[in-house]
Amino acid sequence: MADGAHAHDEDMEPAEILSTIQRAVRARGVRWTGQREAIIGTFIDQDRHLTAEELHQLVRAQDATISAATVYRTMNLLVEIGMAAKRHFNGDSASFDLTIGKGHHHHLIDVDSGRIIEFKNDEMEAILATIAEQYGYRIACHKIELFGVPIDEPPAKSAPDE
Ligand SMILES: [Zn+2]
Ligand SMILES: [Zn+2]
Repeated sequence: MADGAHAHDEDMEPAEILSTIQRAVRARGVRWTGQREAIIGTFIDQDRHLTAEELHQLVRAQDATISAATVYRTMNLLVEIGMAAKRHFNGDSASFDLTIGKGHHHHLIDVDSGRIIEFKNDEMEAILATIAEQYGYRIACHKIELFGVPIDEPPAKSAPDE
């Protein structure tokens, strides 16, 4: 299947992502403050799934006046404007996932370590669309989460470098 057939918002520079979010926040009528910029900037730089608490720890190192409540409100704002998604990987606290700049993706969760692997698969997306069509639907959105345990590999000839 030919790639690049559809436009993705992937490969955006962090600064571009930040300015896009800034525009969207202002369009929403919400003030763009230094604290919001620090929170969102850190989240973009980290480029991984973070709970509000984890993000708060990180931004507090830069600005001790940023409260957990401000972090939480800011992250929920990102979700509201469609720039981030809230994921519940392990049942406990929600992780925030930047969706802008990353494109559509899904997650494979290692149930032992909690490690989260992001994946994309065009064939799977096509199959899902076909299934929905068979029932007379077009997919509006979908959630796919795979929960896995590592496959025990037979001893490798050369030691993996980790
Ligand atoms: Zn993700
Ligand atoms: Zn998908």
